[in-house]
Formats: sequence, structure tokens, C-alpha cells
Amino acid sequence: MAERVAGVRLAPYTTLGLGGPAGAFAEAGSAEEIVELVAAADRAGEPVLVLGGGSNLVVSDDGFDGMVVRVASRGIEADGDRLTVQAGEDWDALVARAVAEGRSGIECLAGIPGQVGSTPIQNVGAYGQDVSQTVVGVRVYDRKNGDVTELSAHECRFAYRHSVFKDEPGRYVVLAVTYELPAVGGLSGPVAYRELAVRLGVALGERVPVARAREAVLELRRGKGMVLDAADPDSRSAGSFFTNALLSAAEAAELERRAPGFPRFDMPDGSVKVPAAWLIENAGFPKGYRRGAARISTKHTLALTNPELSATTADLLALAREVRDGVRERFGVTLVNEPVMVGVRL
Ligand SMILES: Cc1cc2nc3c(=O)[nH]c(=O)nc-3n(C[C@H](O)[C@H](O)[C@H](O)COP(=O)(O)OP(=O)(O)OC[C@H]3O[C@@H](n4cnc5c(N)ncnc54)[C@H](O)[C@@H]3O)c2cc1C
Repeated sequence: MAERVAGVRLAPYTTLGLGGPAGAFAEAGSAEEIVELVAAADRAGEPVLVLGGGSNLVVSDDGFDGMVVRVASRGIEADGDRLTVQAGEDWDALVARAVAEGRSGIECLAGIPGQVGSTPIQNVGAYGQDVSQTVVGVRVYDRKNGDVTELSAHECRFAYRHSVFKDEPGRYVVLAVTYELPAVGGLSGPVAYRELAVRLGVALGERVPVARAREAVLELRRGKGMVLDAADPDSRSAGSFFTNALLSAAEAAELERRAPGFPRFDMPDGSVKVPAAWLIENAGFPKGYRRGAARISTKHTLALTNPELSATTADLLALAREVRDGVRERFGVTLVNEPVMVGVRL
């Protein structure tokens, strides 16, 4: 069994560089070790935090009073179009490998930090792709039933930044993910995001060489501070702090009254998606807006950052609340946080 260490500070394990100590901390080098550690903590009645790359976490300054299981399992198995990947593999490295093999389906998800095992949790997505389009199965440890089982993509109930893993938080620990990534003549999936299509100089729906799609996405992401880079203070974030707003028809009508002509994307189910960045900027919070040691990224309105690594979690949340309340006051829309909160609430 992996060694348990007390009092490890969590800040260095998160991309925000925030978070106090863990009650206990252990690194799990295999799926078996992950299951052993989580099952032992459950038997002892200890709270468990499964820690991947820490790129979607806001951890309390008081830390986490329980067992932190840091996932470090490795291994990739190829079977025709399918890759089955252990949870602890680095996501961006997997994208690079798939692209080098000419496989398509995840090239637009290049540059997203974190581990493979976390990608189904919030159905990671960017530039017109999300993992629900390629995941065919997720091997999990089910803490409720105490067994290891395989969930189909259907059972994952994927939606925009959502899945069964968010519906039933903490129930499943992801051990491995199987993706279907066929090689389609070395071409990408149809380009489905306007900004990317413009960058590539193609029409929406066209395909380009898969490596070119990946490169273009990485360039766009670097321009927004959305690729981890020790030299870029804007990348000391948890990615987008707020999800885009999904409004009912009645809520959209109310917003139209307050902000005629607001940017809207009508969804097939009748709801209306509104870019959170537009709401934030138009509520008076420009890029670079600062509150104490926490700052909105100077390149991307949606990212809240700890630029000098001098902020506390309390500082970051004070900024997040100011933004959320300002948007609610101006537009009547309540923004929801994307990162997972550990021991704190927005
Ligand atoms: C600069 C930057 C850019 C980003 N861009 C994007 C983007 O474009 N699109 C996007 O969707 N996200 C983006 N993110 C958010 C983040 O990278 C993703 O959500 C990523 O999948 C988180 O992976 P992680 O391993 O770091 O997870 P962590 O932050 O370690 O954990 C996140 C959640 O998943 C749980 N978890 C982790 N591993 C497992 C497991 N094996 N089993 C069960 N639960 C687990 C944790 O308990 C926690 O609840 C960005 C973040 C940063 C910092």
C-alpha cells in the first residue's frame, strides 16, 4: 500500500497555487492502489479527495481534513481505433500522441491541463469538441457498491460541462478511460468552432490535417493564457472560473429586456446559452480587473488568477463573489463556478 503522509500542503498540487494542508496524503501508482486507498479510507469513515492535476480545484486555506489520494497510475493500451488509458496519464500528452498517430477526435482539446481520469468528470471541452464525442467507456471504482465496474458513454450522462460524476459527486473513482479515436486519413474532425475556423482559414465543417488543428488550438490558447506556462502569470488559474449561462426561455426574455440584442446561442432543447465572458465584461469587470492579490486574467475574462502566487483562497473567492454579484445585479443572471470547491463555497 502507498505511504500515507500527514500535513502535506495542497497549494503546490494545484494550478492556482492555493490550498492548505491535507489530513493525510498518499500517491497511488496503479488502479489497484487507488482502489485500496479509497476503500481503506471509506472503511475508516475518512473523507476522501481524489486529486488529479489540480487544475480544476479551489481548495480552502484550511486545507482538507481527510485523505487525499493523488492519482499517479500510468499506461496506454491500443486496440484498433480504441485507446484505453489509465487515469493518471497526462491529458495533453495523450492528445499529442493521438495526433502523432493521425487519430482524430481530441485534437481541439490540446493544451488542457490535468489528467485523463478527470476528463469525463466535467466532460472537458474546448473549440467545438468535448470528450463525450469520443469516450466509449469509463472504468470506475464504485464507492457505493464497493466494486470495480465499467460505465458506458450513455451511463456517463454527458452534458455541457456535466456528467453522472457531477450528479453523484464522490461516488465513482475513475480508474481508466477508453476513447474511440479513428484515423480518418490524418484529418481532424469537422471544424466546429468559428474562431478556430477563422484561424485555420477554412469554413465551418471542413477538415484539416489533424496536426494543424492541434497547433492552431495551442496558438489560440497561448494567446489567452490558457496553456500552463510558468512564465505566464495569467495561466495561474483553474481555467474558466464560470460556466456559460444556460437560460430558460423566460429568463432569456428577461435578459433581452435588460440587454437588448445580447449574444445568444439557441440550444436544441429550447434553452439559451449566453457567454459568461460577455456578461462579466458588460457588468463592468474588464480583463486585468484586480481585487487585492487576485486578478481577472489580462488575456481572458473568464479566468480568475493568482498572478504573483501571493493570494489566498479567501482573496480569490472575494473576487469571484464580486463578479458573480455584479453580473446578477446588472443582468439578473447568476453565474455558476466551473472548478470544484474543496472546503469552500462561492
Ligand atoms: C490554464 C487552464 C486551462 C483550462 N482549460 C480548460 C478547457 O479548455 N476546457 C475544460 O473543460 N477545462 C479546462 N480547464 C480545467 C481543467 O484543466 C480540467 O477540468 C481538467 O480535466 C481537470 O483535470 P485535473 O486532473 O487537473 O483534475 P483535478 O483538478 O485534480 O480534479 C478535478 C475534479 O475531478 C475529480 N477527479 C480527479 N481525478 C479523478 C478520478 N480519477 N476519479 C474521480 N474523480 C477525479 C477531483 O476530485 C475533482 O473533483 C483548464 C484549467 C486551466 C488551469
